[in-house]
Amino acid sequence: MAVFGTLSDRLADTFKNLRSKGKLSAADVDGTVREIRRALLDADVALDVVKAFTTRVRERALGDEVNRALNPAQQVVQIVNDELIQILGGQQRRLEFAKNPPTVIMLAGLQGAGKTTLAGKLAKWLAEQQHTPMLVAADLQRPNAVTQLQIVGEQAGVPVFAPEPGNGVGDPVKVAKNAIKHAIDKQHDVVIVDTAGRLGVDAEMMKQARDIRKAIDPDEVLFVIDAMIGQDAVATAKAFQEGVDFTGVVLSKLDGDARGGAALSVASVTGRPIIFASTGEGLSDFEPFHPDRMASRILD
Ligand code: GDP
Repeated sequence: MAVFGTLSDRLADTFKNLRSKGKLSAADVDGTVREIRRALLDADVALDVVKAFTTRVRERALGDEVNRALNPAQQVVQIVNDELIQILGGQQRRLEFAKNPPTVIMLAGLQGAGKTTLAGKLAKWLAEQQHTPMLVAADLQRPNAVTQLQIVGEQAGVPVFAPEPGNGVGDPVKVAKNAIKHAIDKQHDVVIVDTAGRLGVDAEMMKQARDIRKAIDPDEVLFVIDAMIGQDAVATAKAFQEGVDFTGVVLSKLDGDARGGAALSVASVTGRPIIFASTGEGLSDFEPFHPDRMASRILD
């Protein structure tokens, strides 16, 4: 994963040094934990997350499981792997479908986070699994947003419910409600609602997202976050959690060439699972998120 490249390299170096040792002294463990801490902080992982993580790793690395291990260094790597899986959410959490269709999925996040692109990716992925998704343009803030969703819908081969073009300042709550009615009429089993973002968190945007959430009572509210936004990730995630109480996270731009550690903080800071990962601009650059696979990739 490009976005975690530097972190991966740093951890690999740390473990290489450790492997040259046999039994590990407390000083070896402390040195290793310090290096891990620095690597995580340099990768922009949030301080609280780093602290909790390194405390757990240190405790376990000083404990019996490492002491008794045939290969103590390998055991430490295993512990780091386990704990990384934990901060990434532990178990895989799949998308939840409604017992009575349509399943309503609302997308929220800052402008540029990758919501509209994700809407297309998700729709394509669902259609490939014999679902009959419909996209809804409830982002009426940006003049281009409706057109952009229509383009994405066309690429995905999925219909888009949108207000008339040029009729830009409509009421997104009404559009979203009408869209659900339309989906029921046309027997779409999943409705994906794209909402407006702003460059920064603001009260009006959050209220609008909250109003849409109230009006359509979605089964999932997915918070899309750009893995490259750095330390702002935590504050943004918290603001959206408070504002729209999202049910899951989508990490986007994991292909980006930057310090993506902030993305590693989001699940543990909000207690919400990461459900999908977006890894490029193409509609196929998308996959369900597996905490264990991501941890392995970082430690590869
Ligand atoms: P929105 O404002 O949240 O709807 O964001 P968009 O879907 O319009 O995405 C903003 C920009 O990021 C666009 O240029 C997308 O092509 C790009 N983008 C979206 N997802 C990804 C991704 O996973 N990787 C990369 N590299 N670019 C992405």
